[in-house]
Amino acid sequence: MQHGWQAVTLMHRARLIFQDGAELTVEVEPGQTVLEGALAVDVPVRYDCCTGSCGSCVVQCVDGQTVVDLTGKVPVNADELVAGLRPGCLTRLNSDASFELPYPLKPAPSAPAKHSAEIMGVQRAAPSVALLTLKLDRAEDFTFQSGQYVRLAAPGISGARAYSIASTPAELPLIELMIRLVPDGKMSRWLQETAKVGDRVKLQAPLGSFGLDDRARRHVFIAGGTGLAPVLSMIRSLRGRGQRALLCFGCTRRQELFYEAELAALVGTMPELEVRIAVMEGADADIRRGTAVSLLQQDDFDAETVSYLCGPPGMVDAARKAIAEHGVGVAAIRAERFQPGG
Ligand SMILES: Cc1cc2nc3c(=O)[nH]c(=O)nc-3n(C[C@H](O)[C@H](O)[C@H](O)COP(=O)(O)OP(=O)(O)OC[C@H]3O[C@@H](n4cnc5c(N)ncnc54)[C@H](O)[C@@H]3O)c2cc1C
Repeated sequence: MQHGWQAVTLMHRARLIFQDGAELTVEVEPGQTVLEGALAVDVPVRYDCCTGSCGSCVVQCVDGQTVVDLTGKVPVNADELVAGLRPGCLTRLNSDASFELPYPLKPAPSAPAKHSAEIMGVQRAAPSVALLTLKLDRAEDFTFQSGQYVRLAAPGISGARAYSIASTPAELPLIELMIRLVPDGKMSRWLQETAKVGDRVKLQAPLGSFGLDDRARRHVFIAGGTGLAPVLSMIRSLRGRGQRALLCFGCTRRQELFYEAELAALVGTMPELEVRIAVMEGADADIRRGTAVSLLQQDDFDAETVSYLCGPPGMVDAARKAIAEHGVGVAAIRAERFQPGG
């Protein structure tokens, strides 16, 4: 008969529930994060930075006890934590737990990989917004879901920058990016002073878990500035589905407003789409004064509506708070924050 201490294992299980109803259960070792547990057995969960900046691995905890590392960057705010949103890269388990993932298991976009591309166009949509059109060298290896982003690396710039794809998968091998030119930004300066047609760039893509919820029958998009990019891709992907869509688009100043004519043309081809635009400064007879959020009305939401928020973190937080006041629950909200340097 053997005596002695028996090792106590604190292994817990994470049940991962995908948007298409598929479920996978993974074991999460003591000290491991939920993301690490999933990646250890090659579950195709979406992630990027693993440091709490990008928000790609945020999932909804529906049961179980979790511990979130709040000592560094955290891609969700206090209200979202209370509502059960958990960054997989910062979350450990104190019990078995279940998580809903905001994307389907199938069809999955291609796994993130390194790509090269040629610049086909660098244009200015507004004084501080550049439109960058790229042609991938090997598009046959690349599929993405509208809403996802790329990490763009340019010659002579240290580090890559995250930019959402504004075009749709149907437009591959071309990819369009909408880039806000920020003061003293390295990529911003490169775009203004150096980048030209024919230059070559490197990409890591596709990344991120922002995307359409295929279970929704009605879609409300709230975009601030270049937060329009992923939202535009998603709206264009809705074409032909006959589902109602509303875009509330806001820019700070009238002279910074961009894509007005393109949005009007899109409405012409998508009768089920409504577009409302507001600016904080310089409103006129055509454009209302206010924020993207101020354009919302109570009857914009019903039980089949999913809302998609995208823009700077402050704008996304304000939008989330405002639509919660319209009675929208956390399960019906998808968000992407354009963290500086993200
Ligand atoms: C998932 C994700 C998707 C993104 N998609 C887009 C997109 O489609 N379009 C887009 O324009 N941006 C997007 N961003 C933000 C973008 O990655 C950064 O704005 C970009 O890194 C700025 O690069 P830069 O080299 O010009 O500035 P940096 O050299 O990286 O920064 C220089 C200075 O500017 C500040 N700064 C950087 N970005 C901003 C900003 N946005 N607002 C105010 N100050 C800033 C920095 O704090 C720093 O002080 C995204 C971010 C994330 C996380």
